Amino acid sequence: MIDFDLAQARLTDAGTAPKQHETCSLTLALGRVLAQDIITRLDMPPADNSAMDGYAVCWEDLQASASLPIQARVYAGDVPPALIRGQAIRIFTGAPIPANADTVIMQENCSEQNGHVLINEPSPQGVNIRRRGEDMQAGLPLIAAGTVLHSAHIAQLAAQGIASITVYPRLKVGILTTGDELTAPGLALPPGHIYNSNAAMLQAQLADLGVHETDHLHASDSLESIQNALQTLSTNCDMVLTVGGVSVGDKDFVKPAIEAAGGKLDLWKVRMKPGKPLALAYLNSKPMVCLPGNPVSSYAVFTLMVSPLIRGLQGRHERHARLSKGKIQLDKPWFNEREDFIRVQATYAPDGQLLLQPFRNQGSGVISSLPWASGLARMPSGVQVHTNTLVDYYDFAYWRH
Ligand code: AMP
Ligand code: MG
Repeated sequence: MIDFDLAQARLTDAGTAPKQHETCSLTLALGRVLAQDIITRLDMPPADNSAMDGYAVCWEDLQASASLPIQARVYAGDVPPALIRGQAIRIFTGAPIPANADTVIMQENCSEQNGHVLINEPSPQGVNIRRRGEDMQAGLPLIAAGTVLHSAHIAQLAAQGIASITVYPRLKVGILTTGDELTAPGLALPPGHIYNSNAAMLQAQLADLGVHETDHLHASDSLESIQNALQTLSTNCDMVLTVGGVSVGDKDFVKPAIEAAGGKLDLWKVRMKPGKPLALAYLNSKPMVCLPGNPVSSYAVFTLMVSPLIRGLQGRHERHARLSKGKIQLDKPWFNEREDFIRVQATYAPDGQLLLQPFRNQGSGVISSLPWASGLARMPSGVQVHTNTLVDYYDFAYWRH
């Protein structure tokens, strides 16, 4: 038996960034993982410019007279003339600040008459100017390799004039489901069967992480069928997930099939609930993780343990998501020999504390608990846990990405 933290660390370490890179145009870069450090090329803004529609002046000149003749009008995109001392230049947002001007008076504080501007309200010196380089400074790091690009990064890259970037290749993941009792959704359900929910579930969990390319095979409970499927998937994909058939039942053939296929297997009993049996294997140099068959176990183990590995294989530098703490809400004291990751719904108490309400049925087959839950609470093992004890909380909102 190994502890959750150790199992999680081992899986995290198995996720090494790809050696290959590819070029990607900025228009297709959303969600891709940057494979190069981006250094700022240009000062932004490139020159001091006006933050307001108003009048560019030399502040000192206003101390002599509140009324100044208007020398010129400059718009964004213009190259302005130098300000003649004692005059004002009508200026609009984004237009470069003329030489000799040090302040922009917003137009709401001015009135114009006979080619002169009258400043009705004094302003401090230097206001309403966006300074060169105040946003981004040439030569400084902008975005680090390993960052998943979201819409705000796209804005930053575009502002730097960058039209293509180097990214890691997209990951392709093979999914092997096993079990003679399983039927694909959409088909008639024979007696004694249940629908295969894990295949679609894992595909969706992978998509949440930005993995959209998957290859799914379903094997019956036989050594040969599982072995063949594993060979195919480990040849065609960057990594493989198997689900079910990995415990100690008569028909649990995943472990012998990996070994028969020449794979190297590290099987652990993890001191956690749900999801005790868990394996990390390598076949054809590809990592493979064997998940428990129960849908909730599989969902939780994927979220907490497999997602860091996948983020690593994608080249992402942040492999673990945010961990918070909340007060577990219990009707009676709780005790378990193993650490238990229970499905909870989080709400905020008036004092801002997170309150974690467990789902009424924590069975590892209870799929309906998953959409209900906002995350998983980590219940300590070997001690009595009382209501309002502070426990670790894994918020799906972060762990799903
Ligand atoms: P196993 O680990 O294969 O013994 O599976 C444990 C439990 O999970 C059994 O009740 C299986 O029917 C169920 N199970 C296994 N794989 C799936 C799947 N792909 N979809 C839904 N339930 C599954
Ligand atoms: Mg099975």
